[in-house]
Amino acid sequence: MRPKINNADIQLGVAYGPDGKRVALAIGNENGSCPFYLRGDCHHCDIGEGEGLFTPDMNLERLEWLKDYFKDDLQDAEHLLVYNSGSVLDQREMSRRTLGTILGYISSLDKCKVVSLDSREMYVTKDSLDYVVKSLREDQQARIILGIESQNDEIRIGKLNKRMTKGGIERLFSNVGEYNGEVGIDVNIVFQPPELTGEEAIQEVVETMKYGLELSEQYGVPVDFNFHPYYQSERSGKMFPDHPRANLRDAKEALGRMKMILEEKASNSKIFIGWQDEEHDQEQDVKVRELERELERFNQFNVSQNVRFLE
Ligand code: SF4
Repeated sequence: MRPKINNADIQLGVAYGPDGKRVALAIGNENGSCPFYLRGDCHHCDIGEGEGLFTPDMNLERLEWLKDYFKDDLQDAEHLLVYNSGSVLDQREMSRRTLGTILGYISSLDKCKVVSLDSREMYVTKDSLDYVVKSLREDQQARIILGIESQNDEIRIGKLNKRMTKGGIERLFSNVGEYNGEVGIDVNIVFQPPELTGEEAIQEVVETMKYGLELSEQYGVPVDFNFHPYYQSERSGKMFPDHPRANLRDAKEALGRMKMILEEKASNSKIFIGWQDEEHDQEQDVKVRELERELERFNQFNVSQNVRFLE
């Protein structure tokens, strides 16, 4: 069965990153939508709307369909990512029955060494982390994908209306730190958020990476960074109609500076450029042109971490 899945989910399915081939599994939201989306938070996000209400049975069918659709890629994927248009660790949005079945399947994939789960900070508790860790093999590292977006409260909370406090972010790092490096965090950063462009946007993304590195050091948590360009979604287009999509040249400059900082600090952290979207970008024709020109280079950077591929 191919329940409600659309082509955008599939496009996001396979990519290449620092850990090798990555496959993203797009699962349905058992709350219907992300609760933060429903209450009007996160002005930049159309993803949280979800695909309608899924039951655990529907999600198990979705998983079977994904296993079949990606059967060739899943066997040699080294990194699996699980999304549900919200928080995978919120039991309202994904039951333990669904999560347990997905993780059980992932633990059967020999090549898979890294498993990333998208979640808001308050659901990353000892209980949920214990559950995830014991559901995976010992040689598989769990990671939490956390959309910090910007270290600047004025932007994250003020402009994006993402009410994720620094206290909440630090509690999450503290909880994850209890696992002595066994669990990591993938920090999502949005490049060129509302009302920042050019040099200001470049400096902001660098500051956000530094913030993530400081937390990594303070709590002993391995951290990687997902670099996402800002684009106008239906929602953000209404909120910030004059703010432009991320500038490609500035993005490359920002990535070069981020890499320089990682090298100066002799950091093991990696950057993944996530330029694809779930077709919420309102300028799909521009996105397609950008990807036609750059995707191969982005893939090469993602795998090698070498900025010469961005020149
Ligand atoms: S950014 Fe995350 S928390 Fe906010 S509405 Fe979107 S999916 Fe929900």
